[in-house]
Amino acid sequence: MQYLKGVGPTLAEKLKAKGLETVEDLLFYPPFRYEDRTRFLPLRQIREGQSGVILAMVASTRTRTWRKGAQVLFEAELQDENGDRLLARWYNAKYLANEIVPGLRLALYGKVEYDFQAARTFLAHPEFEAVAGDGDAELTLDMGRIVPVYEAIGKVTPKQIRRFVQRAIEAAREIHDAMPEEILRRFRLPRIDKAVREVHDPPADLSVETLNQRRSPAHWRLIFEEFFWLEFGLLRKQREMKRTPGIAFELTDLIREKIKQMLPFKPTSAQKRALKQIAEDMAKPHPMNRLLQGDVGSGKTLVAAEAAVIAIENGYQVAILAPTELLATQHYLSLQHFFRRLSYPVVVMTGSQTAKEKAQVRKAVASGWAKVIVGTHALLEKNVEFDRLGLAIIDEQHRFGVLQRLFLRQKGMVPDVLVMTATPIPRTLALTIYGDLDVSVIDEMPPGRKGILTRHYSQQAIRAVWEAVGRELATGRQAYIIYPLVDDSEHSPDLKSAQRMFELHQQKVFPQYRVGLMHGQLPASEKDEVMERFKRHELDVLVSTTVVEVGLDVPNASVMVIENAEKFGLAQLHQLRGRVGRGAHASYCFLVTGKQTEVSEQRIRAMVESGDGFRLAEADLEIRGPGEFFGTRQSGLPQLRFAHVLKDREILEMARGEARSFLEREADSVRLREAERYLEDHWQRRYGLVQVG
Ligand code: ADP
Ligand code: MG
Repeated sequence: MQYLKGVGPTLAEKLKAKGLETVEDLLFYPPFRYEDRTRFLPLRQIREGQSGVILAMVASTRTRTWRKGAQVLFEAELQDENGDRLLARWYNAKYLANEIVPGLRLALYGKVEYDFQAARTFLAHPEFEAVAGDGDAELTLDMGRIVPVYEAIGKVTPKQIRRFVQRAIEAAREIHDAMPEEILRRFRLPRIDKAVREVHDPPADLSVETLNQRRSPAHWRLIFEEFFWLEFGLLRKQREMKRTPGIAFELTDLIREKIKQMLPFKPTSAQKRALKQIAEDMAKPHPMNRLLQGDVGSGKTLVAAEAAVIAIENGYQVAILAPTELLATQHYLSLQHFFRRLSYPVVVMTGSQTAKEKAQVRKAVASGWAKVIVGTHALLEKNVEFDRLGLAIIDEQHRFGVLQRLFLRQKGMVPDVLVMTATPIPRTLALTIYGDLDVSVIDEMPPGRKGILTRHYSQQAIRAVWEAVGRELATGRQAYIIYPLVDDSEHSPDLKSAQRMFELHQQKVFPQYRVGLMHGQLPASEKDEVMERFKRHELDVLVSTTVVEVGLDVPNASVMVIENAEKFGLAQLHQLRGRVGRGAHASYCFLVTGKQTEVSEQRIRAMVESGDGFRLAEADLEIRGPGEFFGTRQSGLPQLRFAHVLKDREILEMARGEARSFLEREADSVRLREAERYLEDHWQRRYGLVQVG
């Protein structure tokens, strides 16, 4: 990049920090919008709200301060050939005084706004270009055509980026087109070379609307391109996995009997179906790579425990990875409970254990004595060695990177992997994130659930909430009350904290009940203890931060109060709500909000209207986009540039179909190997499709 004219080492460094490393990266940096700058407007015709290209001469300029000196304005009085005048104004642009001087001819593009104080229209912060000679403006990069607008990168302006992209296009002699020939032909796709050029420099016969909807042939090709290689990579990974030798577990009648012995209750038919799929995978002589998806409270743990029995009875160990210590402890306790009858030794390993404790656990794991090993990231440390790891169960996948999944796999004999998630994933997203996994869905709740009534209250009406909570407590139920902060913060005076509200609840609101406090800053042992006491019903009310978000299972708790609910994301609200409604009691979720935004109102409304995680995930995607819901980084969601998983779902499905038939058709041909090499060179890093096996 640094050898591109006008870039240089310093700027190259800045661009690199944002993921633009090579000239190729620049070629594939998409404009996020297009502006129609084909129309030239005489100043006489100009009205407030319009935008267009203006050709004029600078009559005079001045620099002045504004907002009590906080800002500097640079203004130029423009005059066109009819003698009409208009003021152009730039904010914080003192430096322009050297560039824009009286007598200079300019082509400008901007929006006409109205200044109430001065009672005049003006051109607000226009882009401009000096025009040579006195004839019509030549067609330049920034004027007289439909112009691509790029997202600024730090201090690098959209206009600068437009120049760099243009130079990159000029410098790039040829862009290699790796898309299989017959796909190009069938879909009549433009060549990659043409597509890249046209997306930055659209042909004159396309309207700005078509371009802004990303429906030009060039866009279609580039969107298809991204999806095709992504799906190709995922399918290839999946196929490779199916060829890698793995453990073929047997499921004998004796083992079936053991599973029955363990079960504390009758599995739902959805649980049975999931187990059947898992058992079939486990029986195959290749590693299982399966996602177990089920809404909060659907009973995934039970299915995981059944799978564990199969592995253990075949003489292997089972590792269970949890995203938080609290959840690891919780799994540890419930699995211990499940496996008591089968006398499997269960151990737990977390970051907060002492070195001595860890050493002990490590020994139990390495010797093969421990059959079930529950843990947090601590389990992934290099010095942890399994004797015979056969099955790895990963809970709440979206908190673990794909890499970790693989790392775990590399420790030993390629165990089977079962990923559990309560994050409801709409199909299109599931394809892009989990395209390499087989999926089982638990779409049925255990019997006897009474449902959760969700209500919205404003801060002013909070008294009604405490009364409702009091009524539930009086009948012997328990309640969670959630706050966004641990401690009061001067930075967020609007937010309530668990610490302060704990005291208030204990002393004023619920003095006759046993109130506990939980948050992430407590030492691990204390967290465990509080959780245990709440589980044993030695506490009636648990005041907490979101540390209880995932996994906690206390069926007697029937009330969830979330204060400052406007501050939480939809996925988080739904997870929190999932802490109640887990037993036979009718349950309540009270969302209490302070000052709302439009987006938070939409979220709260969605929560009140629906208890279905999948519906909520779709709703959230509509409200905020995929990155927000899953936290792009954490989820390992691929970084797509042109494509959008929601808006372009039809193209995604098509690309997946094409990738699949390409793989099947080509078997092991030279063309396939070429495509694979291209994938590795160009897309692997970005998509996190790290080589396996
Ligand atoms: P999640 O899918 O959120 O991890 P859990 O595995 O924690 O859900 O199960 C939620 C609750 O439902 C637990 O209390 C569990 O014991 C109970 N449960 C699970 N399966 C059944 C079943 N088939 N019948 C009755 N209760 C069940
Ligand atoms: Mg769970």
